[in-house]
Amino acid sequence: MRFFDPHIHMTSRTTDDLEAMAKAGVRAIIEPAFWVGQPRTQVGAFVDYFASLVGWERFRASQFGIAHYTAIGLNSKEANNERLAAEVLELIPRFAFKEGVVAIGEIGYDEITAAEEKAYRWQLDFARQNDMVVMVHSPHRDKKTGIRRSIDVAREVGLPMTKLVIDHNNEETVQDVLEAGAWAAFTIYPHTKMGSERMVEIVKRYGPERIIVDSSADWGVSDPLSVPKTAKLMLERGISAAAVEKTTWQNALDAYAQSGQIDVEALLKTPVIDQSRLYNDNSVLRGQAPRVDAPVQN
Ligand SMILES: [Zn+2]
Repeated sequence: MRFFDPHIHMTSRTTDDLEAMAKAGVRAIIEPAFWVGQPRTQVGAFVDYFASLVGWERFRASQFGIAHYTAIGLNSKEANNERLAAEVLELIPRFAFKEGVVAIGEIGYDEITAAEEKAYRWQLDFARQNDMVVMVHSPHRDKKTGIRRSIDVAREVGLPMTKLVIDHNNEETVQDVLEAGAWAAFTIYPHTKMGSERMVEIVKRYGPERIIVDSSADWGVSDPLSVPKTAKLMLERGISAAAVEKTTWQNALDAYAQSGQIDVEALLKTPVIDQSRLYNDNSVLRGQAPRVDAPVQN
């Protein structure tokens, strides 16, 4: 089976992860812009971060046969530094139209403050004007309120619900999101919060339509193999292969291919790895022998 993990922060992960993901069938990923664990102090830090998402990280994943897409945005946590936030928002148009950018994200609420709402609305409006998909981060505390408000504000701004992906859902929020007509994504964490077991029950109860599984793996305790592992458990627990494929591949593809930035035909072919390629004179090999695949007839 092949998998699409539409929320993973590869900049915090290693080449071991990329190798394990490729081996487990992860063929495509989306790396949304987010918080890096401690607050950034100047706009230049965001310039370099966004540049790495559309540049080096895209290249790095390609060297392991994984198609890398990104979402550009100002995360909710750092939206609370209003002076810096204003400068970061000015960067959004510069990066949002680069190759491989499939959405504005991850944006939304963290502590549900006025400053977060201001940045969220600005970015929703930018997405609406440019017909873009939006990936919404939902707060870990007061999640239900945060998600309801994210949907209400998106509706007020006039973003079509088909372009709205709400992430980090759980049993208490899924119904609101599905009823609104948005995509409901679920982050599978290895120990607490949403685990694979709970995900199985949600798919059994709500079916596979507009439900998306992701790992949100980052610098914290998380698992870059959450998507293939959850797919395996779903199959073992009697969920149909078609439903598993929808929730771990097709729905993410359908949601984000609306951007026009995903070459679906190319994605369906066997990846051809060429580690002799360079990015700005740099390779992932540090002098080791490159893997160069022969062209594949698909
Ligand atoms: Zn994230």
